[in-house]
Amino acid sequence: MSTTTLSGKPLAALIQQRAQDEARTLENDGLRPTLAVVVATDDESTHWYVRSIERAAERAGIGCRIIDLGHDATQQVLASVLRDLSAAPGVNGIILQTPLPSNVRIDELVGHIAPEKDIDGANPLSLGRLAVGQPAFAPATARAVVEILDHYDIPVAGRNVVVIGRSAVVGKPLSLLLLERDAAITVCHSRSGPLEKYTKAADVVVVAAGRTGLLTGSQVSPQAVVIDVGTNVLPDGSLVGDVDEKSVRGVAAALTPVPGGVGSVTTALLLLHTAEAAREQSVGGRLPVG
Ligand code: NAP
Repeated sequence: MSTTTLSGKPLAALIQQRAQDEARTLENDGLRPTLAVVVATDDESTHWYVRSIERAAERAGIGCRIIDLGHDATQQVLASVLRDLSAAPGVNGIILQTPLPSNVRIDELVGHIAPEKDIDGANPLSLGRLAVGQPAFAPATARAVVEILDHYDIPVAGRNVVVIGRSAVVGKPLSLLLLERDAAITVCHSRSGPLEKYTKAADVVVVAAGRTGLLTGSQVSPQAVVIDVGTNVLPDGSLVGDVDEKSVRGVAAALTPVPGGVGSVTTALLLLHTAEAAREQSVGGRLPVG
């Protein structure tokens, strides 16, 4: 059987266009939406990723400030920068980019990002609001998965959806978003036992574990739509997901590629969230639901 490739690129282009349209409308009102990205690492691939956000922001007419605090930034400095950005009228969205220095406590830091500027849903308040159905920004990656399912008309209401991974940035918020759409959710993790027990009966499988080759063809059914969130850099520098593409292709009904799948949609959503945040802040309104 042939497996349909669910590219993220056409959807990313559409979302990028929406962000650009929104930015242009705001600019006509004298407001330039601006994103601030706080970085504290020497990791080259992180800097490459941040520059790709900067380039995409430029194309969309959105300002992008990169605040590079160096690999030895302290908890105090990071907290103080996040508080300043949260109070700065010229900044509409804030991302605290990982990885961070090993001695800083990220769970404490994200609490300094103002919820109305928390465009990547990092502050626990954002996750709490999502959990009770209140307006909040969802982490862009979690929303990207839902947008891909919508874009390709893949229904989730009443369907068996398995999410592999339970992190606060992907697995948990994604489960909340899917629950909101009436999916029957199973969340797997490192201690949930053999994956096939759950994935064999799944209509949709989302893999977000950061483990190369975690999901194989023998673990999915022919009707399954597989969304690969994983991004793993191999020793030769190439990027692969969590899905063993070779064995899943030919078995599952559809699969997102890596690269060119969830990641491209995520970047576009960060920009759309920034434009939405700027609009909401300009009218002093409620937060949009991510
Ligand atoms: P994380 O915080 O390390 O969480 C990984 C999750 O996977 C954990 O819940 C862990 O279970 C679970 N897990 C690990 N090994 C497993 C196994 N053998 N079987 C079942 N579950 C297992 O990672 P994350 O931040 O959520 O990111 C997950 C992946 O998504 C990474 O590859 C990351 O690079 C990628 N990512 C991609 C994007 C994008 O835009 N494309 C954005 C963010 C993240 P426990 O909780 O039991 O430890």
